[in-house]
Amino acid sequence: MMQDTRALQVAVVGTGYVGLGTAIMLAYLGHHVVGLDVDENKVAMLRRGQLPIYEPHLDQLMLDSGDRLRWTTSYAEAIPDADVIFICVGTPPLPSGQPNLSYVADAAQSIAGHLNGKLQVVVNKSTVPIGTGDWVARMLEEHAPDYHEGRYLVVSNPEFLREGTAMHDSLYPDRIVLGSDSPVGIAQLVRLYEPLLDQSFEAPGYVPRPAGYTRPELVTTSLSSAEMIKYAANAFLALKISFANEIAGLCEWVDADIAEVTRGIGHDQRIGPRFLEAGAGWGGSCFGKDTSALISIGREYGYDMPILAAAVEINRRQRQLVITKLQQHLHRLKGKRVAVLGMAFKPNTDDLRDSPAHDCIARLGELGVQVVAHDPIAMPRAREEWRHLRYHEAASAEAALHGADAAIIMTEWNEYRQLDWAGALRRMRNPLVIDTRRVITAALPVGTVEQIGKRAPGVLVHEAS
Ligand code: NAD
Repeated sequence: MMQDTRALQVAVVGTGYVGLGTAIMLAYLGHHVVGLDVDENKVAMLRRGQLPIYEPHLDQLMLDSGDRLRWTTSYAEAIPDADVIFICVGTPPLPSGQPNLSYVADAAQSIAGHLNGKLQVVVNKSTVPIGTGDWVARMLEEHAPDYHEGRYLVVSNPEFLREGTAMHDSLYPDRIVLGSDSPVGIAQLVRLYEPLLDQSFEAPGYVPRPAGYTRPELVTTSLSSAEMIKYAANAFLALKISFANEIAGLCEWVDADIAEVTRGIGHDQRIGPRFLEAGAGWGGSCFGKDTSALISIGREYGYDMPILAAAVEINRRQRQLVITKLQQHLHRLKGKRVAVLGMAFKPNTDDLRDSPAHDCIARLGELGVQVVAHDPIAMPRAREEWRHLRYHEAASAEAALHGADAAIIMTEWNEYRQLDWAGALRRMRNPLVIDTRRVITAALPVGTVEQIGKRAPGVLVHEAS
């Protein structure tokens, strides 16, 4: 933690997955932070010390930040005293694939109305199309009551946290990207992140330092390069997963196993082992949105992005593959009872946005399947956000599996890894599990478990001509 003389006053606008993590982490580092949201319910919860989302360690870190952290719905309260103002509002996709920038515009205009005429840095942490930083700067210029050139600086500081490990990623980032055409703005952000840049920085024991970690790389760039870095990073990660999924499909034909193949290629340092897991395809609030945004930005310039378009298409195909596999085993699905284990798009989060499990449950419903779904954390959120889907909730994974004609594992929660699968199979009406996340490692009777990227005995029989 830092000496109080180095502490800054910070406002974080938008307290979703990114804003909450940012606010709490900066307060933990020693800054004085006000988190602001237009959602009154969220702010009321936060004021009571409750978190509106599930994210490991966030509650403990919030407690450890003590009275350096406040919550408000008022721009008049949060903005005038802030040295640094983060914009962390959502940029969800429009039907065209372009991101909806109306929340950023609202936030920028509201911020502008309360700037204090002294030096303040506005930081764009939301993922936004290239050029948005300049657009925000123009909005500040137009709407600030007492505008003076050089007083309000805009910096792009894209966020790379992964939900489920957000605190780990925020406290021990690989790199911090700061994009601005103003050296003063960059210097202020370097001061903000100073504790993290110190090699001896130790986060609390419940977020252990990764082996071999030294300190984050500081990458300073122009505003537009920083905006592009965020899209390019997500697009590349999505490509890696789609690539693994494409190879996985061929593995099934040639009787190879994608898990062995990716282990073999991942040890090549030029490739790396992460984001090479084959499965039911990527999901979550970012990959689908950001790949579509990048493709649509390209389209604006008449520039095709065929690799990215293929990655998106493979992902669509991969989600359908789960249903196809089920049909190969059960033939007619109507009237069957299928357990869906895992609803969140990945473990250790309750985020349901663009989750592959959503499409799976929706498609099964269309096919007349009785779906019994379970998720250790995300079920209450699904009750709100997935009202349009037809499924029954199960109190436990075991209860979902009991009497089922088949099960599909959609999320690799630890509790599914630890399940007594041999016992669970015996209690199913028909012992069949489509394991899209390589959760099951136990040796189980032949024909009971089908995994993506590995030939299931008796299902795909193919000889090359
Ligand atoms: P979110 O939807 O969880 O949170 C956005 C919050 O902003 C909401 O609480 C909303 O009420 C609030 N808000 C909207 N308009 C507002 C306004 N005018 N003033 C104040 N608050 C306002 O979104 P998120 O997942 O935290 O993502 C935020 C941004 O960060 C997006 O651009 C996203 O692409 C990017 N991002 C997200 C992740 C992630 O894993 N979720 C990772 C990296 C980057």
